[in-house]
Amino acid sequence: MVVAIAVPKEVVGGERRVALVPEVVEKLRKAGHEVRVERDAGSLAYYPDDAYARAGATLVASPKELYAGAQIVVKVQPPTRSEVDLLGEGTVVIGFMNASRNPEVVARMRDRQLSVFALELVPRITRAQSMDALSSQATAGGYMAAIVGAESCPKFLPMLTTAAGTIRPATVLILGAGVAGLMAIATAKRLGAIVEAYDVRRAAGEQVRSLGAKFLALEINAEGEGGYARELTPEEKAKEQEMVSAAVARADVVITTANIPGRKAPRLISKETVARMRPGAVVVDLAAESGGNCELTRPGETIVSSGVTVLGPTNLPAAVPFHASQMYSKNLQSFLGLLIDANGQRVTDYSDEILAASLLVHAGEIRHAPTRDLVAGGKS
Ligand code: NAD
Repeated sequence: MVVAIAVPKEVVGGERRVALVPEVVEKLRKAGHEVRVERDAGSLAYYPDDAYARAGATLVASPKELYAGAQIVVKVQPPTRSEVDLLGEGTVVIGFMNASRNPEVVARMRDRQLSVFALELVPRITRAQSMDALSSQATAGGYMAAIVGAESCPKFLPMLTTAAGTIRPATVLILGAGVAGLMAIATAKRLGAIVEAYDVRRAAGEQVRSLGAKFLALEINAEGEGGYARELTPEEKAKEQEMVSAAVARADVVITTANIPGRKAPRLISKETVARMRPGAVVVDLAAESGGNCELTRPGETIVSSGVTVLGPTNLPAAVPFHASQMYSKNLQSFLGLLIDANGQRVTDYSDEILAASLLVHAGEIRHAPTRDLVAGGKS
């Protein structure tokens, strides 16, 4: 039996990525599955329709036609309400679901009896590394943050010795040295900047130094469960703010990526600190969508305050859509490997640790407890 997999064109504004690239479509076709791709699904990421056709996909003209009879739908962005309404009972949907920001859509998916896997819930265990879409897309976001920061900065990043004089290198400060932060550090280093970084997790220091950047050390360790950060005490917060503010004030570009899963992003840069920065300095706040690491950040907007530019990009991976899609697609290929067995049959037992942890909605129930509470609270 073949499995029918559907790849829609993403409908959220500004999204340029596609869930499956032709290379992965070809592998699924070779394994005997049917892959339907909506026309133009990959065109904004520079994967044209004819590449999908060569890979063996069936191109379809409309979402309605695409979803009719689809067993597994693969997406980048969470489905919209109108997409959900086109999906038949029992359809499996895989993608980022941002459940805490989409309680109504989650409730609708529950009512439509869909089986929904949220890639952001995939546990970060070794076996799931190839399915870690949060990491692959954070890599793309971190890279773009350094590029956007460099582009918005009125200075060269590298040191230059020229007949017209010597240029001192710019200083780039990265706050939060997780996946995105480390990629931003590596990119800013390659552009020739002096790079400093800070993270509440002491373990990040070694990784930062191995990339040739300076780690700003504070005498606390805030590594919590599973390698993520825990929340700091008020005294720790005050100390941290003092050290971070001084580093922010001397930087030309500040890239912030600090997040605590399931909570509002920590506030690391106050408007008073922004006022201490040099005119022309830039803040790229990758935590814009989860509340912002900088007080002045507005998601999706660029603010200029006393000559300092504060950018709040909400979807930087979409700015590097070719490779971000390629990486996401590989993550999905691995994930699909859990949902389709060796005989090409669709798996319906979701007790596997990775499937169980990422199963957001199934059989008319919200399986992820925090989302269930959220939806119950909103009475959706
Ligand atoms: P994240 O996006 O949740 O947060 C980004 C960074 O912000 C983290 O490094 C966090 O420590 C830091 N942060 C939080 N509060 C801060 C504050 N007040 N000041 C400064 N920094 C602050 O993190 P992530 O990129 O998803 O990675 C989190 C951890 O998970 C890291 O240790 C990473 O190496 C690890 N990880 C493991 C795997 C795996 O084993 N498969 C995969 C990816 C990431």
